[in-house]
Amino acid sequence: MPGRHAVEAEARRLEKAGLKLLCAAQDIRAAAALTLEINRLKKLRNAVLAVHVYQRPELLAGVADFTGDSYQLAKDCQSAKADTIVFCGVRFMAETAKILNPEKRVLLPAPDAGCSLSDSITVAQVRALKKKHPGAPVVTYINTTAEVKAESDCIVTSANAAKILRVLFKKHKKIIFLPDRLMAANLAAELGVKLGKDLIPWNGACEVHERFSPAVAAHYRKAYPGAKILTHPEARPEFVAQADYSGGTSAMLDYVRTHKAPAYLLVTECGLGELARMRFPGKNFVPLCRICSHMKLTALENVLQALKKPQAGQTVEVDAKTAVKAAAAVRKMFEIAESGE
Ligand code: SF4
Repeated sequence: MPGRHAVEAEARRLEKAGLKLLCAAQDIRAAAALTLEINRLKKLRNAVLAVHVYQRPELLAGVADFTGDSYQLAKDCQSAKADTIVFCGVRFMAETAKILNPEKRVLLPAPDAGCSLSDSITVAQVRALKKKHPGAPVVTYINTTAEVKAESDCIVTSANAAKILRVLFKKHKKIIFLPDRLMAANLAAELGVKLGKDLIPWNGACEVHERFSPAVAAHYRKAYPGAKILTHPEARPEFVAQADYSGGTSAMLDYVRTHKAPAYLLVTECGLGELARMRFPGKNFVPLCRICSHMKLTALENVLQALKKPQAGQTVEVDAKTAVKAAAAVRKMFEIAESGE
């Protein structure tokens, strides 16, 4: 176990990284003993920690090697020079890391961390949709299982979905878009295409974002004049219409960085607001967010245990055939997203 002086020094590092704004002193010291041990083991095992922006602040501030949205983390894991990737996020994200890095060991400290979008569609349902709409390419949100990705032509994230669909609509009249029906509706409005005719949606939704109501937005607008309301394209179109900005999590952080407003409402999972407070201590944030119970399953204790001795389910496996097909769809996303088209 690390000594008292080492723990005190680590606690000061965590405070400086932003935890002082969010946690009590005794909680920071308790976290420090764990982050010290995790960071020591990471070196020993040649492991890196990929931490999604919705994760707990002590993970973001204390042990993350990479922090970002699904797109950024997929890219970072792909270029990571490590034997092991420890993924602090939910299962579909860890699977994506494994698909892109079949030779690396990928650990998911919270093996039960799922996602309502990822759970909303099966491979059989994708195949049935393809049969119903022959010739239409399948464009799939990254929040899906490896098997569903393997049935897809191209993966997208919230950061690049509009761009990728725009490119594909130049060649195709009809596109199947899976599995988020609200994101599909938001994209159809943004691109000026007909939902159900040009863009064929599925019936999935994010259990966090679908519950923000437009009436709440109107209330907060009155209560905080001048505050900017930012939300995610997984939210209902009626809510998005009330917001000042809708975009992926990285885009929301960029918006905060580049705008001067009296306050910001990050209407998304609560982790993003906590990260924003740590990154922009001089700005004001009004809490209007929901917790994703899946995202919050990962604690420092799980990470330490997984690094020491992974239990059943914590080592992520994707069968080779599925991984090859799914990787091709993910790489198609990188290709189009990074193209000048
Ligand atoms: S916030 Fe929504 S989309 Fe993200 S993991 Fe949770 S349920 Fe899935």
